[in-house]
Amino acid sequence: MELFDTHCHLDEEAFADDREQVLQRAADAGVRHIVSVGTTVESSRACVALAQQSPLVLAAVGVQPNYVSAALPGDWEQIEQLATDPRVVAIGETGLDRYWDSTPFHLQQQWFVRHIELSQRLGKPFIVHMRECEAEVTEALRSAAERFGTLRGVMHSFTGTIETAEACLELGLYISFAGMLTFKKNHALREVAAAVPAERLLVETDAPYLAPTPHRGKRNEPAFVKHTVACLADVRRMSPEEVAELTSRNARRLFGVGGA
Ligand SMILES: [Zn+2]
Repeated sequence: MELFDTHCHLDEEAFADDREQVLQRAADAGVRHIVSVGTTVESSRACVALAQQSPLVLAAVGVQPNYVSAALPGDWEQIEQLATDPRVVAIGETGLDRYWDSTPFHLQQQWFVRHIELSQRLGKPFIVHMRECEAEVTEALRSAAERFGTLRGVMHSFTGTIETAEACLELGLYISFAGMLTFKKNHALREVAAAVPAERLLVETDAPYLAPTPHRGKRNEPAFVKHTVACLADVRRMSPEEVAELTSRNARRLFGVGGA
């Protein structure tokens, strides 16, 4: 079984003591690629370093919306520079967040557009974080599409409605599901996952956060992506092997990784 964890925060403190073992367990579980996603300049730089050290790891660089107000002058230029590294396959994470109000919304919107512009310029997809602002994200994506045409990116750890998913799909985006798909009460999310066209489906862990059932409440890690795959297989009436192959192929296509 070949698995592709499209979103993980491998650079985080939670992995400081046993990162090697975490990567080994991922490889043993069949994970062939992990995108380690930056949230600040420092974290983006750490993700690029991890990607240079391990053939399993690829990097995404960007400033997550909740960290935008803490960004210093010159940070964006460093992101632009890091983004040109061949191990960097995506820009982000970016997006909008109304849950944590640590950053003025207009500043988040400004940085969201910035990330999309860079993504367009480099021909690398962007990664969207969306929390409690589906209408605003949809609107921002629509105006980006008016400017740039079909978008190349992914809605990460998607928990939105079917209407939002459809709007994003129409603009060209992929939809990625994380461990929350496996949570018992999330019937509505599983219905969304059942409706997404096969060629736009992705899976991720968003580790170390939100581990899937049966590891819920514990630290998450890339090897656990198989549980989300199993859940998605159930929802789509496919075998886990088929879902693993499908989502890996989709991820290789989106991120421009060999073999798509
Ligand atoms: Zn993330």
